[in-house]
Amino acid sequence: MTTLAPERLREAERTFVPRILVFSTNNISDPGIDLAGSAHMTYSPGVVVISLPCTSGIRPSWILHAIKGGFDGVFIASDGDECAYLPDCSTRASRIVAQAQELLVKGGHQSARLKMAAICSVCAEPFTRHIQQFGDALWFIFGDIRHGYAWVFPKSDHLSVGIAALHPKHGELQAGLARVAARYGVALEDAQLRGHPIPIYLRREPIATARALLVGDAAGLADPFTGEGIRLAIKSGRLAAQAILSGHPEQYPALIHQDIGVCHTFGLGLAWLFYHFPRLCFALGAPNPFITRAFADMLADRADYPLIILQIVGSLPIYLLTEGIAALAGWLGGSERREKVRSLVYTGAGK
Ligand SMILES: Cc1cc2nc3c(=O)[nH]c(=O)nc-3n(C[C@H](O)[C@H](O)[C@H](O)COP(=O)(O)OP(=O)(O)OC[C@H]3O[C@@H](n4cnc5c(N)ncnc54)[C@H](O)[C@@H]3O)c2cc1C
Repeated sequence: MTTLAPERLREAERTFVPRILVFSTNNISDPGIDLAGSAHMTYSPGVVVISLPCTSGIRPSWILHAIKGGFDGVFIASDGDECAYLPDCSTRASRIVAQAQELLVKGGHQSARLKMAAICSVCAEPFTRHIQQFGDALWFIFGDIRHGYAWVFPKSDHLSVGIAALHPKHGELQAGLARVAARYGVALEDAQLRGHPIPIYLRREPIATARALLVGDAAGLADPFTGEGIRLAIKSGRLAAQAILSGHPEQYPALIHQDIGVCHTFGLGLAWLFYHFPRLCFALGAPNPFITRAFADMLADRADYPLIILQIVGSLPIYLLTEGIAALAGWLGGSERREKVRSLVYTGAGK
């Protein structure tokens, strides 16, 4: 695995222009958006507005189509409870958003790329704030980079743009980075590109001598699936301290092997599966609350890879069965019934 992390200072932030499709309503949110313009408030010049009579007329498939077509985000400026056409407009709109976010996740896109908020006829400032938030989001880009992923992170005064992949071919990372930069409007001409291997411990490397114990990156302890290294640097530092304080520093490699090494082997297997079949893994994993909770536990160091793999394998039949029953319930009794089935099974799973 290799990273290439160009950090563009201020200029990049100026050149990053998120393309955002806004659905607004003729009577209420349109005047609010117009007011933002006439009051000279600043928001992305990449905003394109489509006006409709009522938010509930939006189709979830339009949103997926917009994201696939190159928009970075979609914002629904809804009427909320003030809709002149339908008293239950906001309930319907929430349902559309839930369905569209599900479509996005199944298509390998982040659900956060769709946002909705009520924008009134004088809500110029809230509108610009919502649009600004699209530019402030963390972007993880999967499915586009062979056996890896890319990211765009806004920092306080610059953007951090990077790419990581398992065993990339010569020049592949640079080409992938250029593609991502072009798509997100980040100019790379003067960027300083920096790259290095992410060290993955394979249990063969010596990590201790009689007078030194290696921890963190020096011991090659980055996570094999996510590439994150801070958690394992802290964990290995603790194990090193524990070995020294116990008067048996020679036991440190065994502690690492037991607490980290074994999990690494499972993590490598999972990484291979995910980065070779990202779309399938996304479709089955991202909307599955059992799996998202397992990963949150892993990031918080409450669960390790063997447990996560067990949860993935164990929850898949339950998830597929639940989705099948929910689809049937939705077909027979409408979307409320479908959501009822889901919440019955998933309550607590996604928390
Ligand atoms: C672009 C990028 C993005 C990353 N993103 C994430 C992320 O989002 N989440 C995550 O968990 N991990 C991330 N990582 C990995 C993470 O930064 C490292 O795994 C982690 O910092 C390792 O901690 P460490 O203490 O082992 O090493 P380091 O943080 O590298 O600390 C080693 C320190 O030793 C100092 N040093 C080196 N040689 C000497 C010397 N001879 N004398 C004195 N001091 C010396 C260095 O200057 C450095 O300060 C990222 C890495 C990169 C490159």
